[in-house]
Amino acid sequence: MVKYIFVTGGVLSSVGKGILTSSIGKMLQSRGLNVSVVKIDPYVNVDAGTMNPYMHGEVYVTDDGGETDLDLGWYERFLDLNLRKENNLTTGMVYKAVIEKERRGDFLGRCVQIIPHVSNEIKSRIRAVGKGSGADVVLTEVGGTVGDIEGLPFLEAIRQMRLEEGYENTLYVHVALVPILDVTKEMKTKPLQHSVNELRRIGIQPDIIVARSPEMIDSEALRKIALFGTIPENAVFCSYNVETVYQVPLILDEQGMSEFICKRLCYMDCKRDLSKWKKFVDTVLHPEHEVRIALVGKYAGLADSYVSMNEALKHGGAACKAQVCVQYIESESFEKNPEKVEVLKNFDGIFIPYGFGPRGTEGKIAAIKFARENHIPFLGICYGFQLAVVEFARNVCGLKEANSTEINPKAPYPVIDLMPEQRKVEIKGATMRLGAHRIIIKPNTMAYALYKGEEIYERHRHRFEVNLRYLRKLEKNGLVFSGKSVDGRRMEILELPDHFFFFATQFHGEFKSRPQRPDPEYYGFVKACLDRKMGKSKPSFA
Ligand code: GLN
Repeated sequence: MVKYIFVTGGVLSSVGKGILTSSIGKMLQSRGLNVSVVKIDPYVNVDAGTMNPYMHGEVYVTDDGGETDLDLGWYERFLDLNLRKENNLTTGMVYKAVIEKERRGDFLGRCVQIIPHVSNEIKSRIRAVGKGSGADVVLTEVGGTVGDIEGLPFLEAIRQMRLEEGYENTLYVHVALVPILDVTKEMKTKPLQHSVNELRRIGIQPDIIVARSPEMIDSEALRKIALFGTIPENAVFCSYNVETVYQVPLILDEQGMSEFICKRLCYMDCKRDLSKWKKFVDTVLHPEHEVRIALVGKYAGLADSYVSMNEALKHGGAACKAQVCVQYIESESFEKNPEKVEVLKNFDGIFIPYGFGPRGTEGKIAAIKFARENHIPFLGICYGFQLAVVEFARNVCGLKEANSTEINPKAPYPVIDLMPEQRKVEIKGATMRLGAHRIIIKPNTMAYALYKGEEIYERHRHRFEVNLRYLRKLEKNGLVFSGKSVDGRRMEILELPDHFFFFATQFHGEFKSRPQRPDPEYYGFVKACLDRKMGKSKPSFA
């Protein structure tokens, strides 16, 4: 019998529902339970793939090629799961399915309504995750804020699930902001009280309330939250500010949250063991070294645009007991002031992330040139890989105006070009080359030293690739493609053997990086930055 935990949020968005949901999952895992997670996004987009990262943060990519909300990344990192498209539910997806059924005649003769047709579709999708994953507990996080119009059908669906699944098989967790006033230093619970009321108006009485506050709430605030929320005081928990989000399961467990949940869901005798997680958190909190990395990107204004990359760098750092300090630099700033690129001298490594469209690309190319010429460790991901090819073609192979046709469709040397199968694609949603694909690694290369094998599967999200017409020229001039698709026609990894660490991939290693199992390319990059800083003649990898 699968049990269901529902997480809703109040007062404002970005209150930490994703981290809370992941943390609850982690606590339950530490008690021997199998968990899976569903993220509900009440927007009308069918998936996150068509949204600008500046508005919504990064698009996360699953093994099966789902373009999902970035919270799935947090679930995968905390819970070491490989989720699928089905784990992210949107209004667009649900309505599309209901309308397709209606057109097919599945509801023939009936008037199709939000209740029951849309709410049934939502429930059946949540339950399908329960069945398909073999989980003991399915956590469902409802995105947005309680009271949003677009969230209503989802709240209605989870309300009904209490009736259908039973009290001991369902649990509602509500998290809301408890601000502390600057002037009086008072903790204010009124906004939280209002959001609990809003939830009740829909018919959901929370079983647990989590106060999201800068500091641990005091007993007065706790008493008020319990009283106005109509729950016992031992069902109120506080998620206060911590140094790293990976601490959240530990602080909530300490407050007795996992014990409370297990009792409430009738899981007796579930002993917990969070020791491995604690060990990882300790390494993060007590680093022995520091590495400074410049991330030269186009969405530098919003850290959420690069969240998986940032986390993967931290995981790599933890494996070498190093704190990784990432400075975001808007690549356009190098275009306005070309001499500004010199600031990159002050960093241990240069990182070029994913990206789309022409804006800021010349600045990124300038940064790559600087890394190559000054032997500063370099890692490029996806667009970073493609622009490294452009830079090499221009400045080493002498193909002066080499470019990607994404940037200049009339480039005289289109070293990066649209993939052949993309030429006929007109629809934008879910039509890139997506998800995990097999890659063959060349022996005696840096890639081989990092991946320790001849075959890997990595996640992708792109439309362009290295143009095979220029392959010989690039290789003759010293660029090594150390990873290729199985048919050898798709370039996946590049490296420069005479460089300390110059490495880039068409795929996104960050999506498979886990706290205690850092992705090899991110680990390799951070380790190389550290080794070079320590004056070693070449990097060594564990
Ligand atoms: N814009 C490039 C492409 O579509 C790179 C995409 C990316 O960086 N994810 O191929």
